[in-house]
Amino acid sequence: MIYTDTRDKSVKCDLRTAVMNGMNSATGGLYIPTSYPKLSDSFLNKAVAPAFCDVAFNMAKPYVDGEIPDADLNSIIQDAYPFISKVAPIDPVTYVLELFHGPTCAFKDFGARFMARVMSYFNKSEDDKLHILVATSGDTGSAVGSAFLGVEGIDVTILFPDGKISPLQEKQLSTFTGNVRALKVKGTFDDCQKLVKTAFTDNDLRKKFRLSSANSINISRLLPQAFYYMYASMVVKLRCLHDNKIENPAIIAVVPSGNFGNLTSGLIAREMGAPIAGFTAATNANHTIPDWIATGNYDARPSVETYANAMDVGAPSNYERIAAMYSLEEVRHLFASYWLDNEGIIQAIKDCNRRTGYIIDPHGAVAWKAWDDIRSGAMKQLKEGVKGDYKKPGLTPNVPDWADSVINSNAVGIILETADPAKFGSTVSSAIGREPPMPSRLEAVMRLPDHAVPMENNYETFKEWLYNNL
Ligand SMILES: *Cc1c(COP(=O)(O)O)cnc(C)c1O
Repeated sequence: MIYTDTRDKSVKCDLRTAVMNGMNSATGGLYIPTSYPKLSDSFLNKAVAPAFCDVAFNMAKPYVDGEIPDADLNSIIQDAYPFISKVAPIDPVTYVLELFHGPTCAFKDFGARFMARVMSYFNKSEDDKLHILVATSGDTGSAVGSAFLGVEGIDVTILFPDGKISPLQEKQLSTFTGNVRALKVKGTFDDCQKLVKTAFTDNDLRKKFRLSSANSINISRLLPQAFYYMYASMVVKLRCLHDNKIENPAIIAVVPSGNFGNLTSGLIAREMGAPIAGFTAATNANHTIPDWIATGNYDARPSVETYANAMDVGAPSNYERIAAMYSLEEVRHLFASYWLDNEGIIQAIKDCNRRTGYIIDPHGAVAWKAWDDIRSGAMKQLKEGVKGDYKKPGLTPNVPDWADSVINSNAVGIILETADPAKFGSTVSSAIGREPPMPSRLEAVMRLPDHAVPMENNYETFKEWLYNNL
């Protein structure tokens, strides 16, 4: 596969370069593949749902072709995914895709574990250590830290906004030791991201250290997230024959989004033939992308704090990839977009639980509510020309191509549930009156000692720390 750059289409490189550089420091752009090869019809039309690792291998193969042999790719995949992605029906036309069965109980394990193994594969032939810098608004850091823990030749520095993530998330980040350490920055997630981005464009630093990123900007985190869209949409398509008797349903992936890496991965899966009719981009009060879809103006802004804090992103980095893959008009045909305020998040957790019995986390709740509104009249109203105010919570005024399928009850939704509700226990319990059950792997973390280092929101201080500690 040849990879290029969102800002300069004349750039051509291999996977190794794209993965090890993270972003293109010469242009500030992000790497993307030059094509998205479709899986064979015989694979896509199997009468029995394939195994997840089978899907993963077939999808990854074209992107690593000529760089990672089949046997090594297979080991990477088997080693990365010893856990399941579960498709849970919660009503006849709604499936929850549970992506939180990995070690850190959030979907970012899928991307991070693949990336760690691919980087370690490429790093085998290097003499120098590789230093990974990662900014996190919550779950990225723990997924990346956990994925790289003990990986030889690579160390990881995680920056998180002090006091702006949940106590459990903070604990998960602060208890790493050895080749992984965390800095708690006095600032916001955007400040953390800026410190990391500045370091990547700092030539002094780059001369001295081999630096790489591990945010959702790294292409090796994005590609593996496409696996579960393919897997889940194939499973749901087959299940529909029994669950609701809808033949050829329009499958809508409803994605709770922050940096829009997850949604971009869905676009890749669809390009590769996943039976997905369209998407709903669901955000919290950080609605930069819904506003772009509504108005045509992309207006990045500072992030605001919400209960779905892993989505508190005002300047979503993967906007650049989406805009490189599709025109605004194409996006408006393919996506519905929706946003929900904090009050709506609590109400959604409550309503979802009351109506379906399912306990959903604050991120998944945004998606559940978007889908619930869409199929209970909001899309019909939109089609009939009743447009809401995009500045208020709800659907943006574009009518996607799949609107009629929803109106004619021919559509099913896949809600991407990105975190275990226990990670946001206090928010969930304020909505439903009880704490969700705590998985034992999270409980264990709470008993470990804290090693996070306090850090000013100042580039020079950060740089000095890097010089002294890498
Ligand atoms: C990171 C994260 C998101 C947002 O994913 P993006 O790829 O940044 O859009 C949603 N939910 C949870 C729990 C997350 O950790």
